[in-house]
Amino acid sequence: MLNAIERVLLTEEQIQSRVAELRNTLAAEYEGKNPILIGVLKGAIPFFRDITLKMPIPCNYDFVCASSYAAGTQSAGTVTLLKDTAMDLRGRHVVVLEDILDTGYTLDFLKAHLLQKEPASLKLCVLLDKPERRRVDIEADYVGFTIPNVFVVGYGLDYMEYYRNFPFVGVLKPEIYSK
Ligand code: 5GP
Ligand code: MG
Repeated sequence: MLNAIERVLLTEEQIQSRVAELRNTLAAEYEGKNPILIGVLKGAIPFFRDITLKMPIPCNYDFVCASSYAAGTQSAGTVTLLKDTAMDLRGRHVVVLEDILDTGYTLDFLKAHLLQKEPASLKLCVLLDKPERRRVDIEADYVGFTIPNVFVVGYGLDYMEYYRNFPFVGVLKPEIYSK
């Protein structure tokens, strides 16, 4: 598994320290607002876990599952909602937690979908941002790291459903794609 990695882009320590900062930012911002934190399955699982664990303010958990990648490393552009929220968002403060903002198709779709449920507010929090690849006019409200245009895996991010279990974010060796 590990020999599929060309280089580590973000170490476990870098990720954990930045995630703790984001947790503190969210806690200060949402104090007294009892936000609903919505994780986007499956890629956001480690990020969601690390943001929410030790969150010092009351919050609710919910999850959606969206798919934009047919397979491989290119976004298909059309997003399918595989699982919707289970909670009533009306009048609530919602924060969407996602692994990465790339072309923007996924979060643009999810944002429009969730806004129809009339939350009091809706903000986007992503671990990674790849602004060079944006196709849709959308920005995240909270960003862990801005990264260059490379395909990364680990800390929830997959290639063909593998590598999500790495505690770091790394760049996959190009020969893995061409197999
Ligand atoms: P977008 O819709 O913004 O293009 O992409 C969002 C989704 O594409 C993410 O949730 C993630 O599943 C996938 N994605 C985008 N860039 C990368 C990347 O560099 N590595 C991996 N593993 N997935 C990515
Ligand atoms: Mg994916």
